[in-house]
Amino acid sequence: MAAIDQVLETNAQYAATFTRGNLPMPPARKLAVVTCMDARISPAHALGLEEGDAHVIRNAGGRMVEALRSLAISQLLLGTEEVAVIHHTDCGMLTFTDDDIRKKIQVQLNGNADHIAFLPFSDVEASVRQDIAAYRDSKIVRQDIPVRGFVYDVKTGRLSEVN
Ligand code: ZN
Repeated sequence: MAAIDQVLETNAQYAATFTRGNLPMPPARKLAVVTCMDARISPAHALGLEEGDAHVIRNAGGRMVEALRSLAISQLLLGTEEVAVIHHTDCGMLTFTDDDIRKKIQVQLNGNADHIAFLPFSDVEASVRQDIAAYRDSKIVRQDIPVRGFVYDVKTGRLSEVN
């Protein structure tokens, strides 16, 4: 069975017993998490987040520059007051360069991505620090709230704070 058909089947079961249809739109825990799209990270399980608890903004690498638009909306329209940035060990972003993916796009898709920064990195802790700095440089997000950075270990499930 194709993956989308499988999730549709699972969703029918989920909806059959769904009881959280009356949650307010603003996240109850006033928290926004920025993290990688990596399939091994389950914010719900790893962070104990249930429906209605937090905004989880995901992209390749959990990069801040790509999350700022969502964070502005999260904070100014939906009231979040803390930000956690979580990168992780063994991230796919450690495995390529902008040149690598630009060449693949050229060869496989005949597309030109020379103007796109794909934001790979070579050091996970350094990328967390870089992303906190990117947050601090932004004029579209609140600077008066806690912004903390972490590395999630995909082998142990443990978060370590990056200071
Ligand atoms: Zn990743």
